[in-house]
Amino acid sequence: MHELSIITSLIEQVEQICKEQEKSTVSKIVLRIGSLEYINTETFLFMFEQAKEGTCAEKAELNMIIEPIKIRCRKCSEIYEPEDTIWLCPKCNEIGGEIIQGSEIILESVYFDDN
Ligand SMILES: [Zn+2]
Repeated sequence: MHELSIITSLIEQVEQICKEQEKSTVSKIVLRIGSLEYINTETFLFMFEQAKEGTCAEKAELNMIIEPIKIRCRKCSEIYEPEDTIWLCPKCNEIGGEIIQGSEIILESVYFDDN
């Protein structure tokens, strides 16, 4: 499943960071999720709760920031957020363009519990 592979690599990344920074407990994880990933946030959270058990993220809460899709028009370079699945430039009506935001999942920050 899509969500599961993302969570697996997320946990791996967080464990790596813990190791590098010699921390044992993560209190919070902030994740930026592009809308184009079509993540089901409920499923995602549920899977995260399962996957974090026994890792340094066991007590961590997960904050998800959903990023809107942003498109740069090929023709006039206008940057816009499409309202529909059809990407139509509001300025010149060109269809399609370059995705400049919304297609990535980024680990924004990891907070540690220092106690
Ligand atoms: Zn345009």
